[in-house]
Amino acid sequence: MDAKAPESQDDAAKAGGRKGLVLIFTGAGKGKTTAALGSGFRAAGNGMRVLMLQFIKGSWHYGELDAAAALGDHFVIRQMGRGFIKVGGAATDPVDLQLIREAWAEAKRAMSSGEWDMVILDEILYAISYGLLDAPEVAQALAERPPLLHVILTGRNAHPVLVELADTVTEMGERKHAYQRGIQAQLGIEY
Ligand code: ATP
Ligand code: MG
Repeated sequence: MDAKAPESQDDAAKAGGRKGLVLIFTGAGKGKTTAALGSGFRAAGNGMRVLMLQFIKGSWHYGELDAAAALGDHFVIRQMGRGFIKVGGAATDPVDLQLIREAWAEAKRAMSSGEWDMVILDEILYAISYGLLDAPEVAQALAERPPLLHVILTGRNAHPVLVELADTVTEMGERKHAYQRGIQAQLGIEY
């Protein structure tokens, strides 16, 4: 990996060179995880290696798991959670806390390994906003990552420290959601 200082990396990128970016997909509307999947799909199609670590998802079956598996080791998705999370001060389940810590340890390993061109930390922003993970610690790991590595973070309530550090931040605004009319999760749309 290129070990240029971030500033010269910025200058190189302004002249059309490569630079790893931090992207955030946040907000109350639908589309955060699917935007990250779309980015991963685009990168994998360019021969890049993509890892998505899902901080909360666990037991459910999502179509994207099979779609990514069809791309072989270019697009790997690992579910690190158990599908839901119990939070609220002292009520936080220690199992969830442990799973989040393991997911974060895995994320740090993956980001520094040099094995991946893009690492997607799906729903990590929920873990941070629930107080299960420290935003400054995440910011530090992002700042120290290899200079060409792209990292995408998803989830509601993006922490200001991470918004400040990110290169591109997109907020999905909710105008309507089928769920509001009582429509249940649909195959191909939600899973
Ligand atoms: P998606 O995975 O579809 O891109 P997302 O990542 O933006 O959605 P999450 O907050 O991770 O949204 O929630 C995942 C699930 O919750 C999805 O099934 C999604 O359709 C549903 N969902 C997302 N936004 C809303 C909303 N505003 N109201 C109700 N359900 C929602
Ligand atoms: Mg999501």
